[in-house]
Amino acid sequence: MKNYLIIGQGIAGSSLAYHLLKAGARVVIVDHHHHESSSVVSTGILNPLSGKRFALTPGYDQYFAAATEFYADAAKLFSETFFEPMPVVRLLRSKSEGDKLQRKIETGEISDYIFKQYSPGHFQSLLCDDQGAVEIRHGGVCHTSRLMEVLKQYFIRKGCLVNERFYYDEIGFSADGAIYQGEEFDKVIFCEGYKAQFNPWFQHLNFKSIKGEVLRVRMGRRDISRRVLLRGTWLAPSTGDLWAAGGSAATDELDGLPTAAGHDTIMDGLKNIIHTDAEVLHHQAAVRPFLNHQNPIVELHPRFPQMAIFNGLGSKGFLVAPWLAKHFAANLTGEQQPAADRQYV
Ligand SMILES: Cc1cc2nc3c(=O)[nH]c(=O)nc-3n(C[C@H](O)[C@H](O)[C@H](O)COP(=O)(O)OP(=O)(O)OC[C@H]3O[C@@H](n4cnc5c(N)ncnc54)[C@H](O)[C@@H]3O)c2cc1C
Repeated sequence: MKNYLIIGQGIAGSSLAYHLLKAGARVVIVDHHHHESSSVVSTGILNPLSGKRFALTPGYDQYFAAATEFYADAAKLFSETFFEPMPVVRLLRSKSEGDKLQRKIETGEISDYIFKQYSPGHFQSLLCDDQGAVEIRHGGVCHTSRLMEVLKQYFIRKGCLVNERFYYDEIGFSADGAIYQGEEFDKVIFCEGYKAQFNPWFQHLNFKSIKGEVLRVRMGRRDISRRVLLRGTWLAPSTGDLWAAGGSAATDELDGLPTAAGHDTIMDGLKNIIHTDAEVLHHQAAVRPFLNHQNPIVELHPRFPQMAIFNGLGSKGFLVAPWLAKHFAANLTGEQQPAADRQYV
């Protein structure tokens, strides 16, 4: 039986471990108690059209289908819902943004994802929609922190999760495997999130990670329907009666420490989304792992084929990881051929 050592139990490591276990492989995951885990802090929004230009994520439909399948499998396995399909309402910031959207819709490129357009003032008593709004479909929210915790308990019950810190000098090599704590593995797969920038074997990769902060808030008004609201800052339903608000981004201090500046940026942004007060209950920060080319990587080490990396999920980890993990696992177990030399997916 093939066996794999996975470093990191974020959405990358978890979805890969899930698919490998399903294929009958042996898996050992090492995770340092979700320390500075981006997946735990993440808002888990899935949205086909991002940014000022309403850019359609390439391959969105295949990613969305695999993600919803993975979250539905988890719901069945754990008798709990983790993914809620819901509308994404983008509040327009200016007339020129509205014109840009209109032109894009007319090309046909994004029309399948547009449910409805709203004139300025449609939601006026609740939302800041002075420039109008657009409702985007095929989106939703994954309750990431709960999913990560439930998966952690599942891997512990299966006897395949070790909650400890991994040190690079603890890895040794055999002829065609890797040795960790006296056990030989066919491969060690690094899913360490932004910490991969310190991995001595993957220094050839150019990480450009970005820190983000999230406030868990209780909204003053309770009659807000469950949908994602975007206007630079975002506001998304979380678990229970909480909402997650986020939007700050920093590239200097890459760590998991919440900042006063991050708090203020998000609170100011909220005032441009919704006409109600928000009580902050929790403030978190984490780092989104980005590579300079902005694409995820799933590849073998150039010299040591016993090592691979699954990383660079950026701001769309909960959209792309399940599809990438499914195909990566199929490549590893020999069910599918890798896309190219060294490149698994
Ligand atoms: C504020 C914020 C908001 C976000 N919002 C969204 C969103 O709305 N939608 C979306 O799809 N994505 C979002 N993201 C991005 C998403 O969270 C990431 O793409 C994804 O979580 C990355 O997953 P990962 O498994 O690669 O890394 P991580 O989740 O960071 O997991 C890495 C794991 O490796 C472990 N680890 C690292 N080094 C070691 C070591 N030496 N020993 C043991 N364990 C180790 C850590 O403990 C951690 O658990 C957001 C991110 C942030 C920060």
